[in-house]
Amino acid sequence: MGIAENLRKVRERIEKACERSSRDPNSVTLIAVTKTHPPEVIVEAVEAGVKHIGENRVQEAREKHEKLKNLDVTWHLIGYLQRNKVKYAVRIFQWIHSVDRIALVDELEKRLEREDKKLPVLLEVNVAGEESKHGVSPEQLEELFMYTLKAKHLRPVGLMTVAPYVDDPEEVRWVFRKLRELKDALNEKVNDEVLKHLSMGMSNDFEVAIEEGATMVRIGTAIFGERKY
Ligand SMILES: *Cc1c(COP(=O)(O)O)cnc(C)c1O
Repeated sequence: MGIAENLRKVRERIEKACERSSRDPNSVTLIAVTKTHPPEVIVEAVEAGVKHIGENRVQEAREKHEKLKNLDVTWHLIGYLQRNKVKYAVRIFQWIHSVDRIALVDELEKRLEREDKKLPVLLEVNVAGEESKHGVSPEQLEELFMYTLKAKHLRPVGLMTVAPYVDDPEEVRWVFRKLRELKDALNEKVNDEVLKHLSMGMSNDFEVAIEEGATMVRIGTAIFGERKY
């Protein structure tokens, strides 16, 4: 099956999930996750209408970005960000979904100031408390949020999570609901709609995530097929 056809099906499923939850399909941004796939695949996806791509490794994204600089597409970093990769990340990505610790906020702030740039960021939360996952714990989220709010070059605009992988996505509905509740609680705390986005939902669970309020879904396999590695 080709990328264009897979995309069409994914978009249809997004629309159906929006219908079920009385949401405007335009309120959900599709991020096509192109990790492990070569630049040609990104070009093909963009030709099929993709406007947003997600990559999880800075080094890999750098190599692709070098070849695709002029492509009209928005780059999202969705994977763990090491401090020593921040200087490259701020040059490639327009959005960073994986801010999960204060030391990283400091490094981002330093590099962004140097580049004279501002970036919208999402705070990654390890809602289910999985050992293997990155992300701030729900308990430490408020501290990280308040800290990020003070950074001059970063704008915390939402929360992100990766739900545990399960066969039946209904089992992780609570994870998505919890992320939404965390967002609402933080907005209430500062008495302002600072956090607008919920980046949640992948190939296996995006419909449930949309029903729980996702504004950005990150989809790889359902568009590009199984990853090679
Ligand atoms: C790989 C990845 C995705 C996409 O996963 P699929 O199951 O292939 O849709 C989404 N989010 C993150 C953080 C990822 O690393």
